[in-house]
Parts: sequence; C-alpha cells; structure tokens
Amino acid sequence: KAKGAGRKGYHIYESTSKYDHVENFIHELALSNAIELQEFELYYQLIYSPQQEQVVGAEALLRWNRTGIGVVSPADFIPVTEQTGLIVPIGYWVIRQACRDWHRLLERFGEGFKVSVNISSVQLSEPNFVERVIEIVENEGVPAQGIELELTESSVIHNYQQVEQTLEQLRAVGFTIALDDFGTGYSSLSMLTLLPIDKLKIDRSFIRDMNQSLFSAMLVMAEALHMKVIAEGVEDAAQYQMLKEMNCWGLQGYLINKPIALDALLQHAVSQMQ
Ligand code: C2E
Ligand code: MG
Ligand code: MG
Ligand code: MG
Repeated sequence: KAKGAGRKGYHIYESTSKYDHVENFIHELALSNAIELQEFELYYQLIYSPQQEQVVGAEALLRWNRTGIGVVSPADFIPVTEQTGLIVPIGYWVIRQACRDWHRLLERFGEGFKVSVNISSVQLSEPNFVERVIEIVENEGVPAQGIELELTESSVIHNYQQVEQTLEQLRAVGFTIALDDFGTGYSSLSMLTLLPIDKLKIDRSFIRDMNQSLFSAMLVMAEALHMKVIAEGVEDAAQYQMLKEMNCWGLQGYLINKPIALDALLQHAVSQMQ
C-alpha cells in the first residue's frame, strides 16, 4: 500500500468509530511536527547482570512530551507513526539521540556498555536502513558494538528473507540484535536457529507468571543457540533471586529502575543489587 495514497481519506469511512479516526488524525498532525518542536525524549531503563554484578546496558524508550498534554507513552502513538510512515524519521531521531546519550552512559557505567534501541518492522523494510544507521553511528562517534537493536518477533516473521539479510548486514558491522517480547509472538524454533540473533528478551508475562521449568527450558534453548537471555519486567526481589539463581544473563524491570530521563538517571545513585 502506498503510504501517501492511503492517507488521503484518513480512513474515516472504514471506521466503526469515527471518533477514533478523528483522534488519530489529530495525533498524526501533532506527531508530524513533534521532531521539529523537540517534543521527543528518550527515557532509559537499565539492564543489570546479576553474574557480573554490574549494569551492562540500558534500553532507550521513547516519550512524547506533547504540548498542552504532557508525556505520552509509546503504546499510544507508535502505532500511528507506523501506519503513516512517520516512524521512519522518528526512528532515525531515536538512533541519533541514543548515540549521543551513549557517550555519557559509557562514562558512567563503563566499558562494554550498550544502548538498546527499539526498531519497528516499518523501519527495517526501508531500502537504505542499514546505510543510514551506519552513517548515524559514525557521525556520532559510536562503535556499532555500543548499540543493540531490538526487534519484536512479529516484525521478523513477516518478510523473513529480507529481514534476515538486513540483520546479517547490521551484524557484520558490529551491531547486536535482540528479539524483544520473546514468547508472545509466533516465531517458530526453526526460525530462531536461522535468524542472526544475539539475545532473547523474555516477555514480562513469563516473569510475572513465573513457571520455573518453562523458564529454565528457555535458558537451555538460548544457550544451545548461543544467545543471551534478558528477563523483562523484573518487579520484585523474589523474581530477582530466582532469575539470578537460574543464571539469567540480564535483568530489566521496575525493581532495578523505572524508565527515566537521562539526566535523572545519571544523577540518581543506582541501587547496587547483590
Ligand atoms: P518494550 O521494548 O518491550 O519495552 C519495555 C516496556 O515495558 C516499556 O514500556 C517499559 O516501561 C515497560 N516495563 C519495563 N519494566 C517493567 C516492569 O517491571 N513492569 C511493567 N509492568 N512494565 C515494565 P514503554 O516505555 O511504555 O514502551 C512500550 C513499548 O513501546 C516498548 O516495549 C516498545 O515496543 C515500544 N517503543 C518504545 N520506544 C520505542 C522506539 O523508540 N521505537 C519503537 N519502534 N518502539 C518503541
Ligand atoms: Mg524493547
Ligand atoms: Mg520488550
Ligand atoms: Mg513490550
């Protein structure tokens, strides 16, 4: 579907609820100016390694400080940006900003630190995506090894062959790839063995309803595939202890920190977990 053509009628007539679409349209208008108005901001959530007892990375999470409204969560505006293609310029803004922030984070957390950036399938299918991303990290003086790209399962299963090629190219220059929200999509195990993936981020629903044997099986599988595992949504000390004992490579969640602005993150004493 041509992005331009599809937008002409704003889809109002396809709608069961006219209100939704009017709201989306207003959102879209505001979003198209948001980069220029400097309304976007990256929040960060740390990734902690219980084995190394140190922070190994942080995930960049986009926030929209919408004039007159306040902070808007990505769940409320990313879908609109994907439908309209606005995610492409916004996505490049995110990568550039994450690179700028990487320098300060590296200084604070030390060698080997990675910033993770979420990438939508729409971005991934841009013809010059790989070249543009390489250009951005080079301009910002960040080694590709400092950036991890997070993709959801659903974004890699569609267009699988093209995705595989793109990921191979990104990995060849040093980026690492994480499969986000793992376990919620429909990726087959054979697909996992074929795609060039470095890490699995186990969706927080598995941590919440912790089933130890299921989680252990995931860890064994990941190890066999030479992938590291990050548990998402670690909220309490019991989960933390259990995941640490199971030798989970990385932990992320409200227990370690809620996503916050970079300045706040660097000011706060990060709770050192044992
Ligand atoms: P995600 O990549 O899976 O990010 C994790 C989400 O879980 C974040 O929500 C984070 O705030 C939340 N979270 C982290 N720890 C906990 C916890 O312990 N408990 C609970 N209940 N939640 C936790 P957020 O920031 O609202 O982002 C939602 C989604 O929006 C992200 O899910 C990601 O898919 C997408 N997103 C965020 N930033 C970007 C971006 O720059 N580009 C794209 N394409 N998508 C983005
Ligand atoms: Mg993510
Ligand atoms: Mg996730
Ligand atoms: Mg998620």
